[in-house]
Amino acid sequence: MSEQTKVTGIVLSVYPVGENDRRLTILTKERGKIQVFARGCRKPNHPLFGVTQPLIYCEFMITEGRRFNYLNSADGKNYFPHLKEDLENIYYSTYFAELAEYFTVEGMDERNILNLLFVTFSAMEKGKVPLPLIRRIYELKILQYYGIGMEVFQCISCGKTENLDTLSFEAGGVLCRDCAHGSARGGTHVEPAVLYTMQYILSIPLQRLYSFVLKEDIFLEFQWIVKRFFRIHVEHRFKAAEMLEEL
Ligand SMILES: [Zn+2]
Repeated sequence: MSEQTKVTGIVLSVYPVGENDRRLTILTKERGKIQVFARGCRKPNHPLFGVTQPLIYCEFMITEGRRFNYLNSADGKNYFPHLKEDLENIYYSTYFAELAEYFTVEGMDERNILNLLFVTFSAMEKGKVPLPLIRRIYELKILQYYGIGMEVFQCISCGKTENLDTLSFEAGGVLCRDCAHGSARGGTHVEPAVLYTMQYILSIPLQRLYSFVLKEDIFLEFQWIVKRFFRIHVEHRFKAAEMLEEL
């Protein structure tokens, strides 16, 4: 019998395979993003039936094969029941998982994005931060971990840290007043409160990421900026994002 490995992580997606099997994409602490086959688990009384579902946090015992990994058993640690309570929570959590799957690479250490997803689901459970705000914070943060971080602490042209009041989406960060005036491309004016919000998100430890709410006008500007930044730097269309538009 081959040796088993224990991995801990969140199931990002599940696809049916054959008559009774499922293929799971799991974001794990130990192995990054992995694909695991769960044989026979679609039979209703199968012990793996309940743990081979998306968006749950589990400890998995797997056998690592040369080509495929196989699931032997799983111990559910957090089922995040709130995420499945209504359509809005289902769409948002599915979207967050879809982004996590897209922005991670097999064979890489992806603990930052795993932790981000975990604190995001936990914030949804707590329900103190509105979902549209959680979404934009998550998008900004996952891009940072992926390597498309927005430069918000110093002018991307001269490096100065004062009078940062313009954002260049294409260049990926803020410009100081002097550089913004001298630049042919210009940029978008950014309110100090919105800049501060982005600086906070991009520098705060994850445990405190979802610890604030914004006034309506600040939120709207923040949302507009993140949405536009995301669209310019990410060409992919996300299925769950289209579902969110129907809400
Ligand atoms: Zn400058």
